[in-house]
Formats: sequence, C-alpha cells, structure tokens
Amino acid sequence: MIQPGKLGVYLQVPFCASKCSFCNFSSRVASPSIFPQYQRALVREIEDLPKIYRAERIPAELLSTPVETIYMGGGTPSLLGDEFLGAVLRSLYGLFSAESLEEFTLEVTPGSAGPDYLRAARELGADRLSIGAQTFNDHELCAVGRLHSAGDTEAQVGEARRAGFKNISLDLIAGLPHQTEESWRQTLDHALRLMPAHLSVYLFEMDEKSRLGSELLRNGSRYHAEAVPGEEFVVWAYEGARERLRREGYGQYEISNFALPGFESRHNLKYWQLDPYIGLGAGAHSFDGGRRWSNVVQAEEYERRLEAGQPPISEVRVLPLDEQVEEFFFLGLRQRDGIDLEQARKRWGLGPVEPWGKTIAALTKGGWLEQTGSRLRLAPRALLVSSEIFQEFITA
Ligand code: SF4
Repeated sequence: MIQPGKLGVYLQVPFCASKCSFCNFSSRVASPSIFPQYQRALVREIEDLPKIYRAERIPAELLSTPVETIYMGGGTPSLLGDEFLGAVLRSLYGLFSAESLEEFTLEVTPGSAGPDYLRAARELGADRLSIGAQTFNDHELCAVGRLHSAGDTEAQVGEARRAGFKNISLDLIAGLPHQTEESWRQTLDHALRLMPAHLSVYLFEMDEKSRLGSELLRNGSRYHAEAVPGEEFVVWAYEGARERLRREGYGQYEISNFALPGFESRHNLKYWQLDPYIGLGAGAHSFDGGRRWSNVVQAEEYERRLEAGQPPISEVRVLPLDEQVEEFFFLGLRQRDGIDLEQARKRWGLGPVEPWGKTIAALTKGGWLEQTGSRLRLAPRALLVSSEIFQEFITA
C-alpha cells in the first residue's frame, strides 16, 4: 500500500510557554530544563527506528520510502530553539533521503521565532511556517491565556518573510470568548492584510479536553466561559469567512483550510488521502496504509522507554478492510474535492465498498452529500455538521 515518494514525517514537540484555555491537545507547560532530555529521546527514536520497527513487526519498507513532507508541530517547537531543530533534522536526514522533500512546515507561536531561529530553519530545509495567530484582537488573546498580541503576529510574519519564507499560514479560531461580529470581521481583515498563502479557520470545540470546554460543560464561569459566543455566531463567522476568503482568491480545500492556488498543505493532505506518514515524538501517530500506531503520550515515559532501549510505541493496530474503507470515507470527505468511489472500488474491491451505497444514497437524498459521477463530497450545508455525517460511516 505504500506509494513511493509519498511519505510524510511528523515531529511532535509537546511543550508550550503557556496553556491556552481552549486547547484540547496534549501539550503542556514545561521548564526549559527538560528540553535537552526530550531532544535526546527524539534523536534516539529516529536513530533506533529500524530496530523499533523490527520489534513491532512494522515493515522496514517504510524507512526506505523517500520523504516528501516534514511537519514539526505540537506544542510550540520554536520554544526549543535552533539547536534542537538542528539535532533532530540532522538525525532525520541521516535516516531518510530528503531528495524528494517538497514541503517542510514549522509551527510557531507569534513572537517565539526570532531571526536566528528562522535562518537556521531555512538552512535545514523549512519552507513553510504555520503561525498560531488565533485572533487579531488583544482582549480575546488575553482572555484565552495567549502570551502574544496581534502586533506580535504581524511582526512574526514580517520576520518570516525577511528570512525567506514565502509559504506562510495563519491559524484563526471562531467562537473564542468575547468574540463579536465586529471583532471577527477585524480579525479577518487583519489576517488578509498580511497576505498569507494559507489560512486555517477552526471552530472552538466545546469538549472536556480543554479547560474552557469543560468549564462550559459544567456551566461554570471561569476562563471567561460566560463570554463565549453562541452557536449562531459560530455559524455566521464560519460562513462569513468562507465567503470572504473565496472572494479574496483562497480556495477552500478542506473543512477548515483555505489556500491560494498551489499553497494547499501537502502534508495535511496526506492525512485525508490515506498516504503513509511516520510520527515521531511523544504521542505522535503513524500510518503505513494498512496499520496505525502511536507513541506513548507522556514525555517522561517516552524518554524512559527510549533510554532503556525499548520501543516508545503504545499500540500497533492492523486495520481490517472495513475500517480502512470507513477511514477512506470520513477522512476523505473532509476535502472539498471529496473522494472518488471508483478509486475505492479499485483499491478494496466491490465487497467492502458497495454496502455503503445505501448510506450514500440516503445522505445524498437528504442534501448532505453531493455526487457527480464517481466523485462524492459534502454538500455546503454539511460542513458545519460534518462530525454527525462522518458518524454515519462508522459501523462500530
Ligand atoms: S500554543 Fe497551541 S498547542 Fe500550545 S496550548 Fe496554545 S493552542 Fe495548545
């Protein structure tokens, strides 16, 4: 199932300078004194990968697949500095051929990546920067515990351009405390003035994995929970952003992602197109076309295992055919181009794909899916309720 020249590598850095109240990732605030230990573990994981895969019965074929994309995220990788970046990338380039590298993204928090860091990143092959702007309203940033201001984001974009980054992406979030129609319009205006090549527009998720989400679920008032705008606002903000970005020439290629032509994130497309990728670092996930595995989440346990010469992998799952087809539907349908049913029939055969015909017909009849020939995609009205639609493709 592995397609040559198609491998993505994800490097996970699970540390941040502060914990945003809306964040539902496993990142945490940590003292810089523990960073060297994490660096040693990550380098060790890369160097030991052939041994780790042998122990876990993961085909070594993956390791000889040329790397097409690298994505270092988290967390805030730039917190760990250019020495970390250099050590990790040098060991990665020692194991994998980077000759076919086409995209290397670094996530940064505004204000955390200075000229030296950016220059070092460029020298190591980074060509894309994903900046966690979130909003351009300082009151909203402060309310969710961000340490940066709108001015820092603007300065970070300038620094990135001076260092030679042309491919810059900005992350925005709709539904943050104190957000209003006016402040959201201003946030979009400000973001567009900076002319990023790519924009991600996420919606604040009310789940118990974030402090703000769990506070809202228990009807509390901490973390400015009482100032979180309602569902109607989020629908308005998302639809308004889609329309505004379309007018400005940004194509929507995924539920939350918009890009100028040719600037779609090649790495993230791998997740939705079931291409293989290797995740390195605490909690990172991997996929080789037929199995999924992940590393232990706790950084200390991850480091302990590698130091003891043990694999940091917590679980390897060989996906049965029906699960592979389910994933094809609910990951592929995130893309605005949707999926090609003919391609699925060729890949898995009629048996596992045809039973979904009834679900597809019912969702198409209900106006949630659109089918043109063998291509199937979410109808515009389904974009905001995509989780419910994807649920229809999960049998378990
Ligand atoms: S900087 Fe990003 S990863 Fe870190 S806490 Fe904030 S949202 Fe989460």
